[in-house]
Amino acid sequence: MRATSFSEIIGQEKAIAFLKGVIANGRIASAYLFTGIQGIGKTTTALAFASSLNCRNPVDGDGCNICSSCKKIIGGNHPDLIIIEPDQDKKVIRIDQIREINRHLAFSPALGGYRIIMLDPAEKMTDEAANAFLKTLEEPPPRNIFILDVRDPGELFATIVSRCQKVPFRPLPTEDIVNWLIKKENMEKDKAKILARLSEGSLGEAMTLARDDFLADRPDWVDMLNRVIDGSSDMLLDLAQKFSEFGKKAAANKKLKDDRIALMLGIWKSWYRDMLLIKLGGTTDLILNSDLGNLCKKASTSYTVDGLIRSLAVIAGAEHDLMNNRNLLFLLERSLLGLKRATNL
Ligand SMILES: [Zn+2]
Repeated sequence: MRATSFSEIIGQEKAIAFLKGVIANGRIASAYLFTGIQGIGKTTTALAFASSLNCRNPVDGDGCNICSSCKKIIGGNHPDLIIIEPDQDKKVIRIDQIREINRHLAFSPALGGYRIIMLDPAEKMTDEAANAFLKTLEEPPPRNIFILDVRDPGELFATIVSRCQKVPFRPLPTEDIVNWLIKKENMEKDKAKILARLSEGSLGEAMTLARDDFLADRPDWVDMLNRVIDGSSDMLLDLAQKFSEFGKKAAANKKLKDDRIALMLGIWKSWYRDMLLIKLGGTTDLILNSDLGNLCKKASTSYTVDGLIRSLAVIAGAEHDLMNNRNLLFLLERSLLGLKRATNL
């Protein structure tokens, strides 16, 4: 059962207070831009907003969870709650998905309340789709509310952004995630700490990692980085090839495979960050891979500060490539060679 109440969301008090205020004083805009990283409650907040707006008997600004409207939202079959997501194949929101919205807008909301249309995430609209959406946004019929979920408003057309009321969502404090993992996942404190820092303030990410045995592959992934230091370019290209094939076998499902690579890149990033911290003489309790501290210290002697910063940039590039659906082999080759070059800085 999915969460659809404001009361179930942690760490977004400001955004929630704002939205409850909007409902209470009835000044409802036609479009909201929910900004912030993934996994911090934007989608749940949109569902809670839709519940509260359409609930027959709201309680403290939240939906009652028992009226027919609330039940439909919980069950995922409310006719006036429309969630537009990227197609599985190309990972984009296409123009025909926007045209589908327009077909809905030709009619009043089916149940007589508000229709909520969420684009999640909105930055995945193709330029063609975004242009069509801009027209839709210019004159929406009454009682239709758009919610655009977006990581970075800079990735949307400024003309779209300017028509939306902005609602910022914040990454959660590490401490909140640690507590959540200990309480809800019965995780040991040390493990929870590593995971919470890796998730960078995203509870959704922490939940994904918690389901996975996220530390099991870490030695192999870190080993790849150590081979960057003393291996030849040819050896690294072989390694990329082997790893990309292994990835195929390990997960036929593309989404699972991408999640796996994202996790590996997260571990890589943490490794270089730790080395940078050691190099700069930072406090050791900030080290993520604290259990591999000696190994990390040894590896850091092969780098300059510039080399480590360059390495982090290479990994950021790989994360960008992954998000843009680049070929896995290409991504790995480019990353490993880029990391190798950074050892000579
Ligand atoms: Zn209700």
